[in-house]
Amino acid sequence: MLERTLSIIKPDAVSKGHIGDILARFEKEGLQIVALRMLHLSKSEAEGFYTVHRERPFFNDLVEFMTSGRVVVLALEGQDAISRYRSIMGATDPAKADQGTLRKLYAANVQNNAVHGSDAPETAKTEIAYFFSELDITG
Ligand code: ATP
Ligand code: MG
Repeated sequence: MLERTLSIIKPDAVSKGHIGDILARFEKEGLQIVALRMLHLSKSEAEGFYTVHRERPFFNDLVEFMTSGRVVVLALEGQDAISRYRSIMGATDPAKADQGTLRKLYAANVQNNAVHGSDAPETAKTEIAYFFSELDITG
């Protein structure tokens, strides 16, 4: 199925200079970049994005991390883009991620884990709409 998913290159990967590596991987894997922007999230923007996790013990640390530097936010499109991108990212904890995944290659730990990816069609839709208007997404 042709799907769209939201990707974030998190502050750790941006500050370590991995934007280019990660974008190149998307192109190599046939995940088409249909929208892209760089931003430095405010506290309320990060809290809003991660609102599903607000009761989790790591929420405040996660918000602090996500606001610690610039991020790159992208909408990716392709066949089965949601699950395919999640397998390219690897497990949340890089110690458990498969060889060659973005998190194995670029993440430091379970919090500073380099990339975000939507986990289902409904979340992909709301997450893309959180950062992009329909006009921002190229046809
Ligand atoms: P993402 O939503 O960023 O793609 P994910 O779906 O693999 O990652 P979630 O369970 O949705 O993982 O957690 C969201 C984010 O919260 C993780 O990517 C990570 O940055 C952080 N996180 C998750 N679990 C922990 C934890 N146990 N300790 C610290 N941070 C965590
Ligand atoms: Mg998630």
